[in-house]
Amino acid sequence: MPGFELFGDLERKEVNDVLDNGVLMRYGFDGMRNGHWKAKALESELQNTFQSKHVQLVSSGTAAVSVALASAGVGAGDEVIMPTFTFVASFEAIMILGAIPILVDIDDTLGLNPEAVEKAITPKTKAIMVVQMCGSMANMDALQVISNKHNVLLVEDACQAIGGTYKGKPLGSIGDLGCFSFDFVKTITCGEGGAVITNNKQYYTNADHYSDHGHDHIGTDRGAETHPFIGYNFRISELHAAVGLAQVKRLPEFLEIQKRNFNILREALSEIPEVTFRTVPDGGVESCAFLNFFLPDLETASKVSKGFTEHGVDVCWNYYNNSWHYIREWNHLKDLKSLYPISSEVKKGLEYLKTKDFSNSDKYISRNISCLIKLSWTEDEVKERANKMVNIIKNAL
Ligand SMILES: *Cc1c(COP(=O)(O)O)cnc(C)c1O
Repeated sequence: MPGFELFGDLERKEVNDVLDNGVLMRYGFDGMRNGHWKAKALESELQNTFQSKHVQLVSSGTAAVSVALASAGVGAGDEVIMPTFTFVASFEAIMILGAIPILVDIDDTLGLNPEAVEKAITPKTKAIMVVQMCGSMANMDALQVISNKHNVLLVEDACQAIGGTYKGKPLGSIGDLGCFSFDFVKTITCGEGGAVITNNKQYYTNADHYSDHGHDHIGTDRGAETHPFIGYNFRISELHAAVGLAQVKRLPEFLEIQKRNFNILREALSEIPEVTFRTVPDGGVESCAFLNFFLPDLETASKVSKGFTEHGVDVCWNYYNNSWHYIREWNHLKDLKSLYPISSEVKKGLEYLKTKDFSNSDKYISRNISCLIKLSWTEDEVKERANKMVNIIKNAL
């Protein structure tokens, strides 16, 4: 997945353009910048890549999720449904708005289980946030039916699935709003950065203003702009956007390499009858950023995980005991460890976490191994890795 593996002259040229004219900020300074608008140029590239009418770049993927929710009016006391298997950013982005994350089970897609989502809907539900984890997707048709039926937003976090598609549409472009991260380890990197995409003009305008102190961006005198509503600063810098602009042009090349490496590993592992793969919904095409597979039980998965580490098969994880990606070890959330007071509404809204049963998620995460697909591996290296993996798995069974 990580685009940083393949930095080159293109990235250097784009960054040097910015350094040469000295305007590191994405707004204003029209005279000084000699026509260089890296953030604007990247937004327009991303409109094509994600087939979306509007793109707003922001400072991170976490900011993208927060800005997306805020732009659609999600705030204090609202409930946002999210999966148990994701990145901590999901609940952070919800809670910073004073909204309440409602965690629900995943299924064998490793994404939201539509039935569990429907059960979790209450009169307070404002949005369903689907997270397209590890390069693939949840059952989007079923989730769209539920969001339409209950008239709640469908927000898509596609940070880990750049380049994946569902029924011909890029992941991220299916919900009312989509979110991307361009942090250092994502398929396209800006160093730090993120994007909100949407076909809804009003949400876009809101995201544009909200991510820059509420500035309306009308005219050429930044100091004279009005502020139709309160905003914050989630801006991306021109330096970061410049890196992304070079990277996005290389996305087709990155995706080809990912697919080649993914297929070699998948084919090798599919010889082992006890190994099964995550379900990809009908009409879905994975980005191949990760290869996810299931073993018969937690004990085998732990043995395999240990074997991989011992034999130098890196970047593979069993997330059952992981404190970044899975509810089981999110003790800081369950215990509400916050530097500052949290509203009584959110405190009360999160009490369910002390008792809610997530065994239907455990069932999948305990047996799952998720392997990052790197771009810098040569074909021979991937084949050697595949052989090692097969041997280690066979030994553990
Ligand atoms: C990386 C990631 C984010 C957050 O992105 P940052 O740019 O690191 O803030 C959010 N959601 C998912 C699923 C991610 O993988």
